Amino acid sequence: MNDYPEITTYGRILMGPGPSGVHPRVLRALGAPILGHLDPEFITIMNRTKDLLAWVFETKNEFTIPISGTGSAGMETALVNFIEPGDRVLVCVNGLFGTRMADIVERCGGELEVIEGEWGKIIEPDVVEKRLKARPAKIVAIVHAETSTGVLQPLEPVAQIAHRYGAMLVVDAVTSLGGTAVRVDETDIDVCYSGTQKCLSCPPGLAPITVGPRAAQRLAARKSKVQSWYLDLTMLHSYWGRERFYHHTAPVNMIYALYESLRIIHEEGLERRYERHLLHSRALGAGVAAMGLRLFAQEGYRAPMLMAVAIPEGVDDAAVRRYLLSNYRLEIGGGLGPLKGRIWRVGLMGHSCNSENVVLLLAGLEGALAAQGMPVQPGAGIAAAREVYKASGM
Ligand SMILES: *Cc1c(COP(=O)(O)O)cnc(C)c1O
Repeated sequence: MNDYPEITTYGRILMGPGPSGVHPRVLRALGAPILGHLDPEFITIMNRTKDLLAWVFETKNEFTIPISGTGSAGMETALVNFIEPGDRVLVCVNGLFGTRMADIVERCGGELEVIEGEWGKIIEPDVVEKRLKARPAKIVAIVHAETSTGVLQPLEPVAQIAHRYGAMLVVDAVTSLGGTAVRVDETDIDVCYSGTQKCLSCPPGLAPITVGPRAAQRLAARKSKVQSWYLDLTMLHSYWGRERFYHHTAPVNMIYALYESLRIIHEEGLERRYERHLLHSRALGAGVAAMGLRLFAQEGYRAPMLMAVAIPEGVDDAAVRRYLLSNYRLEIGGGLGPLKGRIWRVGLMGHSCNSENVVLLLAGLEGALAAQGMPVQPGAGIAAAREVYKASGM
């Protein structure tokens, strides 16, 4: 009996690259009584969830649903449905998630072309244009907020270039959606997917996706079957659409949770939410700069919801993260791949993005760095953050 005690986690303050903190209302929704997945009451919840998702994506696309699976399932859905064997796909790679897209393209039989960008910098739109001019592609795929580097990619110029050369644009908005404007229709994105555990502040498990008219046409004109049965959007569409054809059993309680997290976003309003992410990111940025730390991502293109902080020479990455976790219950992320040991990844996502967390992290970081023998002026980080808040009228 005692070998298997009940789960007694007292929680953490989640300031890593996801999952982010979850509002108690969302946890309550998870525990609501289960309904049959074809129950009319549940179907009403599904429809409202679809409406709210389209609202967050800022799109009129009717084809907007959550895929049952994490953000990577969204990525796979966004590629596998639109690639037929031999189709040329141009993937922009300047971080781990671009690399993952490239891997998926090859697995679905696409002819992969990669733009290799530097990690920590954006993909320059001119480079995309040059490549498409030299060899046209059916699809251009790009990550909006590269969670491995903290870079926020400008999308509009890339969308214009892609369409000028007859390609459709697939965008990874896993980290950006709900934290900064994605604006699917205005930007003219053909396929855009996300995940629930970043700025939507819901547990991991669903991947919202939206499909625009150009992409829907492409899908309808396919000559071969979609290689994945589970992620075939045509079938998923008839499950989520009017027909209600059984495809797979929707994860009922996860959809309750997503619905509740979208209701919370709706109450806040999108523009206010974007401003909130910017404000706390500026405060945290000022704080870490005042402590003598350097930001990793290219200036002017830093994602507000994920800050990559360069680890100073001689400081032990893991020891700092352990210190924060054991003294402050605070989680931040380490670097991935080539950036392991070189950066910390600090998330300011959704419910986790607030001034208490910013101040707590700056206090914790100060203690952790002092414990490592790095000279930090006591209180400098918090004072700088406070200046930003004061200037904003907080
Ligand atoms: C987290 C993330 C993913 C993958 O999502 P999972 O939920 O871990 O499968 C994909 N792209 C980006 C940009 C991400 O941040």
